[in-house]
Amino acid sequence: MSKQIVILGAGPAGLMAAWEFNQAGYQVTILEREEFVGGMCATQTFQGEKGEYRFDYGGHRFITKNPKLLQFIDDLMTDDLLYAERTSVIRFKGRTYNYPLAIGNLLRNAPISLLAGAAIDLVFKLPFQKRPSEQSTSNFAEWIETRFGTTLYKNFFEGYTGKLWGIDPRQLSADWASQRISLLDLKDVARRLIPTRGATPRTYAKKYRYPKLGFGQMYTKLADKLQAQGVTIVRGANITALEQGRDDLKNKSRIDAVTYELNGETFSVNCDHVVGTIPLPVVCKLTGFDSGLTYRSLRFFNMPMDIENVSQNTWQYLSDPELIGTRLQEPRRRSPFMAPKGQTSVMIEIPCNKGDDVWHMDNDKLLKRVKQDLDHLGVPDVSTGEFFTTYTEYAYPMMDVSYNAKRERAITHLNQFGNLVMTGRQGTFRYIFTDTAMEMGLMAAEGIIKGEDNRRQIFDHRNEKTVIEVQSIMDDKKTPEDKHVA
Ligand SMILES: Cc1cc2nc3c(=O)[nH]c(=O)nc-3n(C[C@H](O)[C@H](O)[C@H](O)COP(=O)(O)OP(=O)(O)OC[C@H]3O[C@@H](n4cnc5c(N)ncnc54)[C@H](O)[C@@H]3O)c2cc1C
Repeated sequence: MSKQIVILGAGPAGLMAAWEFNQAGYQVTILEREEFVGGMCATQTFQGEKGEYRFDYGGHRFITKNPKLLQFIDDLMTDDLLYAERTSVIRFKGRTYNYPLAIGNLLRNAPISLLAGAAIDLVFKLPFQKRPSEQSTSNFAEWIETRFGTTLYKNFFEGYTGKLWGIDPRQLSADWASQRISLLDLKDVARRLIPTRGATPRTYAKKYRYPKLGFGQMYTKLADKLQAQGVTIVRGANITALEQGRDDLKNKSRIDAVTYELNGETFSVNCDHVVGTIPLPVVCKLTGFDSGLTYRSLRFFNMPMDIENVSQNTWQYLSDPELIGTRLQEPRRRSPFMAPKGQTSVMIEIPCNKGDDVWHMDNDKLLKRVKQDLDHLGVPDVSTGEFFTTYTEYAYPMMDVSYNAKRERAITHLNQFGNLVMTGRQGTFRYIFTDTAMEMGLMAAEGIIKGEDNRRQIFDHRNEKTVIEVQSIMDDKKTPEDKHVA
């Protein structure tokens, strides 16, 4: 009899694990809390007066350095995969800067006081400063200041980071900086002054893949394929308990069954193995352990606009602390099919904590606030009068200075269950991109199929202390013109 696998969550990691198990002939059931698949990579459709609009949960793009994964996505999506070019800017104190920061652009746009401060940092301070090692426990602020100088930190990082995470950047782990900042240091910024072949810095992927009908299209297609091949996906299933038992042969604890609620009724499914892609602290709690790990949430403000283009920018980073959002996005910059012909839309990512004032802010009050901010940013007031908001509770694993120790305790706790493999962004409590979550899903299935315990490798997968988006295998020269958008 084939083994019964239960996968918790139908996001990218869960679906990829299901794919691998299905190929190997295993019985797979995926339990998903939402009515849709794709997790944070899903796309919502909004029927407006002027037609259909699509909004991701925070605009996504697909980049990877894994040729096999890219081939998998290409085969899955065929003609529905477009190529888009990323244009990002930083909006700060009424000025607009290129992102990532480039000296030429800084020289043209920044006020003299900022330039003077950055120059003093570059020439007189940074060369003499002791840089904390990647392994040391330095915090985000320290990491940035010792690489970019205090002036750039104060101007471009402090306010934005404080707003995004809701904590003082000195309380934030340096891990976030080392994996997320697209330039290595101020010298790297300076190097960009000198025109070289291929002006894109080595740490920045400019072109990316994007599905025609929104990022989520990849996962609805994958889920359809899985279901056609016999995988069971239970939507609307909220996992409420993990029944613990004992594996006497291995002398280890195990999960015997997973309990979930669906339409007010309680169900239970027996399992040989469990793959958990739902948040690590949630699984800890379901097995009686309080990890102390938390998440930063996002509320998305989505609004159709009665105009063809708002700007040419895919992302606008909103650094001013007084603006409510952290990023302003225009979905049709990724695919023209995200809004009806001649129309566009905007989406603003608003950081919050579940249950706080922003999370609960009444829609009309939020609309007023957003309109005020858009006006400040010079976006014309041409909305169709329609808007809606969505939420992501588990947007960012809270990487404060104490998170690593808590995470390790959570991992140790869950390792007692011999048949439970945690994987994906939520399951491993990591700030990772979709491609890495998909790879982790495959790894989880491979380990179980081969009978190998690769749980530590999954937790550490692509844990390089460098920028995650360093290299995309996307080759500019191979970009087919007919698929190129924006
Ligand atoms: C604002 C934002 C922008 C991003 N941009 C990019 C980008 O441009 N490119 C990129 O590659 N990545 C991006 N990411 C990261 C990407 O979204 C994640 O890496 C990816 O979604 C991780 O997949 P996952 O399957 O591990 O987790 P998830 O997508 O979170 O899937 C977990 C699933 O578990 C389900 N679940 C949770 N709790 C329960 C429960 N109790 N019972 C049942 N089901 C449950 C959830 O509903 C969800 O479907 C971005 C993330 C955010 C927040």
